[in-house]
Amino acid sequence: MKVRDVLYEFKEGFLPVQFVFDAMEEAKEEYNRKEIMNNYETFKNAIPKDWIKKIESEEPGNKEKDVYAMVGGKLCVFKECTVKMFYAIFRDVVFKKPKANDYWMQRHEDLKEDNIWSNTKGKLVETKLANSEFLIRHRAIFTDAILHKIGREQSAVCKVCGDEDEGFLHLFLHCRELDSFKTKCKELFEKLKGGRFEKESDWNKTVMLGENYKCKNGKVINLLVMIMKSAIWERRVVAKREKTVTNVETIFKRKAEKYLTCLYCYFKTLDKLDDFYRVFTDKVCKILEDFNWEMPDDHG
Ligand SMILES: [Zn+2]
Repeated sequence: MKVRDVLYEFKEGFLPVQFVFDAMEEAKEEYNRKEIMNNYETFKNAIPKDWIKKIESEEPGNKEKDVYAMVGGKLCVFKECTVKMFYAIFRDVVFKKPKANDYWMQRHEDLKEDNIWSNTKGKLVETKLANSEFLIRHRAIFTDAILHKIGREQSAVCKVCGDEDEGFLHLFLHCRELDSFKTKCKELFEKLKGGRFEKESDWNKTVMLGENYKCKNGKVINLLVMIMKSAIWERRVVAKREKTVTNVETIFKRKAEKYLTCLYCYFKTLDKLDDFYRVFTDKVCKILEDFNWEMPDDHG
């Protein structure tokens, strides 16, 4: 987020209705001009007449007041402040580091703090997937261990293995029902990155937090670990609801194939298939096909 997303220019009077149309255009929503204009009038009619008179009689620029901002303990004229000054205030005073940073830093000695959040976005990542990844990295996940603690779930035990309590890391890493799935994924990712995960903790770190930008095929790996966790979560939800444990590999394959097809179509529609193939190179596609995935049509 940038400061200019938070601060807006202020102009007197009512928001022109054209602004609403522009916003709808930008969001690619369907709309009816007449309907919006009518609704807008209805809103305005709900405002007391005296207020309207007051707002409309205020001529712009006439009685300009100086606005001051408190910057670094002293008052500055707002007009003369730079965005950078506000940026510094937001950075130092308003925005706080996520609590989860400490958790991840304690678990992984060689982790750089920025890496916790740096690889969850980009052209390849659909908003819904980015959002669920964001929650996972914040550890904002209602596992059964937590739900049990707050009295919303009878038992804390994992409904997939039935062995241990479903804590955060149990859910995504340590459940024994993930063993063979994780082993297969590890082989796949080792092929993609062209090297081995020396320690089990390195591999677990990649599953939870992805790879940094230097890693070979890092973009593909980061996308796939997100889909991996979303498959794990989906199986867990089904296990709770239907009381049956489905095959997480099948879910992963289905999700990934569907995702890659959508991505391919999306880039094709934009006439930017080159961008797609820059990430999903012949070699990457071959590795994924060897993994038994069907890659999107007319490749190669
Ligand atoms: Zn389990």
